[in-house]
Amino acid sequence: ADHTFSDPICPDQMNWPALYPTYQAEKGDCVQFLDIGCGYGGLLITLAPLFPDTYIMGMEIRVKVSDYVKERIAALRINNPGKYNNIAIVRTNAMKYLPNYFKKGQLKKLFFLYPDPHFKKTKHKQRILRHDIEYLLQLRGLVYTVTDVEEVHIWMKSHLNEHPLFEEVKLESLSHDAILKFLGDCTEEGQKVTRNDGKKFTAIFKRVQSSSMD
Ligand code: SAM
Repeated sequence: ADHTFSDPICPDQMNWPALYPTYQAEKGDCVQFLDIGCGYGGLLITLAPLFPDTYIMGMEIRVKVSDYVKERIAALRINNPGKYNNIAIVRTNAMKYLPNYFKKGQLKKLFFLYPDPHFKKTKHKQRILRHDIEYLLQLRGLVYTVTDVEEVHIWMKSHLNEHPLFEEVKLESLSHDAILKFLGDCTEEGQKVTRNDGKKFTAIFKRVQSSSMD
């Protein structure tokens, strides 16, 4: 297992084919979906066959958990030849290093599923994260959030709603969205909440207008 993964200095330094065997930069391949704090990888594995032509990445800070997901993906690739080549995980601190991995406007979808509740305490880091998201998410790109903690839900909503570049999307208007029906239940944390009869709060935001950085 690779315990010494180091973050690239900039996106061009990334060895993407080492993560995705079919990746071809010269064909314009790039990661477009990102699962922040992906845990045991349930979302990655659910999305892989739904979006076979999209490169999807998970970021996870815990070494053991990220090693487990690496092995899980490797086993899926062996057992399903030609499949699951579009998902990968990196062990990193997503609060710090997002712009090292992705270029401006590169991401189409960002997922925050069941973020740790203490996540909202570090206000300064939060502001940086929101700034990174705004920079990396393409126009009309979506941020999906689910939590079982109502306070976190309210907080995430107010944090993104107060920002002019994000617009909350009504869940009813996303009935065509193939991801929505899996969202709350496809991860290990979501399944735990289901087992415990917990509540789930979903909120989705769209990146709307250009920022002054454009
Ligand atoms: N999204 C997964 C799910 O739904 O099962 C995991 C949810 S778990 C409650 C939150 C995850 O975020 C943990 O695995 C934790 O290690 C990870 N995490 C917390 N802070 C992080 C950070 N700064 N960067 C990357 N991952 C982080």
